Amino acid sequence: MIDNGLIEKILEAAADVSAAAVDDIIAKAGGFGGLTLEEVAALLVAASAEQKARILQVAGQVKERIYGNRIVLFAPLYISDYCVNNCAYCGFRQECKRPRFKLSQEELRAEVKVLERMGHKRLALEAGEDPENCPLDYVLECIDTVYSLKFGSGDIRRVNVNVAAMDVGGYKRLKDAAIGTYVLFQETYHRPTYENSHKSGPKADYGYHLTAFDRAMEAGIEDVGAGVLFGLYDHKFEVLALMMHNQHLEQRFGVGFHTVSVPRIRAGGGAAKYPHAVNDEDFLQLMAVLRLAMPFVGMIVSTREEPEMRKQLVQAGISQMSAGSVTSVGGYSGGTTGDEQFKLADHRAAGEIIYWLMEEGILPSFCTACYRSGRSGTQFMNLAKGGDIKNVCIPNGLLTLKEYALDYGDARFKQLADKLIEKNINKLENKKWIKSKLVALKNGERDVFV
Ligand code: SAM
Ligand code: SF4
Repeated sequence: MIDNGLIEKILEAAADVSAAAVDDIIAKAGGFGGLTLEEVAALLVAASAEQKARILQVAGQVKERIYGNRIVLFAPLYISDYCVNNCAYCGFRQECKRPRFKLSQEELRAEVKVLERMGHKRLALEAGEDPENCPLDYVLECIDTVYSLKFGSGDIRRVNVNVAAMDVGGYKRLKDAAIGTYVLFQETYHRPTYENSHKSGPKADYGYHLTAFDRAMEAGIEDVGAGVLFGLYDHKFEVLALMMHNQHLEQRFGVGFHTVSVPRIRAGGGAAKYPHAVNDEDFLQLMAVLRLAMPFVGMIVSTREEPEMRKQLVQAGISQMSAGSVTSVGGYSGGTTGDEQFKLADHRAAGEIIYWLMEEGILPSFCTACYRSGRSGTQFMNLAKGGDIKNVCIPNGLLTLKEYALDYGDARFKQLADKLIEKNINKLENKKWIKSKLVALKNGERDVFV
């Protein structure tokens, strides 16, 4: 499904696209109809400095028109750092000789307790690959435990899962465990680079990794989350390949990626230097172009990025971000603290990030409604494509922020949240409904959503 020759041809031809044609492509992208591979290449290769600024601006507008001014928040939860693979960039790779950890159910409780106290409602469950020490049964047990734990007002309502590629039978079991999105990063779509960076273990099989979403969708998982580890290979190639992968799923299953993550390589476990490291300017541009190319996809940035970069990414089309993250097993509660998978760049507590978003006039959202209301896969995309998704995103953002303020906010937080909620209510059609639900929350009702 990834045609290297075609990608290279398209990138070469893009250098000859005129400035006027690039302007036309930017204008077309503003109508959120998506872009062809050739148009994406032109925006990556031929845009002038002025056009690059415009691309960021239009990407921000497209995100706002589709999802409104909300950013959905989540946190990763590492359950095991045992790994039989040797991904050259990763601190968990097998050849790193050091003690390994996997959470007992008791230790998992302690982690979830901290995450719930941070106000999180949505987690990304992460694990290395090790069939013996971290079998699927164990992953499923952890998911069940996470969903069952309610400390005080805490309630994890959506568990996205980022674990190794598996067979259809495995994905069926994951689906039955009521996961949210199944996330798997291709790392690089460039086969020679992939093979060079993944020398041993099951993940070394490029084809098996690349076809993981096909098997997940065959098993009935409708929401899949893709990503490239930027820095391994030429980012322009990766962006086009990511689009080809998405087109393949759209053609085969009627729906493509639910989310796209844009991790950039960080120092981790003695990781080597990367000749394709993406600088800040190119990184912003590639993220914005992805937003224009796939306007309806959830675009995710993690705490791998510095606060200032996260701010710029939010303005240019990001719609979800992690907050208060830890990338070691047991790191939230300090129980069995393993080594970090990689170094983070945004060390702010979740509460600080939520304050910061509100001060920027952005709505922090703890929404987990879509999957639980049956809005997944094609249903979700149809709503998004019809321009209606913000009519659920904004009310749900407001309701979950109110819930957070009531349960975790101090007086200053409550005041700031109420001001932001008031301002946003004015933009809604059904003001009466949302006002009644805000009163219901104040009276003790919880988990209210559209
Ligand atoms: N072990 C599974 C896998 O590799 O697919 C799933 C989870 S792994 C914990 C999550 C992701 O972390 C990997 O897909 C990889 O892209 C990312 N990662 C690993 N090392 C990294 C580094 N040094 N910098 C940034 N991201 C890294
Ligand atoms: Fe293992 Fe995933 Fe790290 Fe690779 S990226 S070494 S599979 S944890």
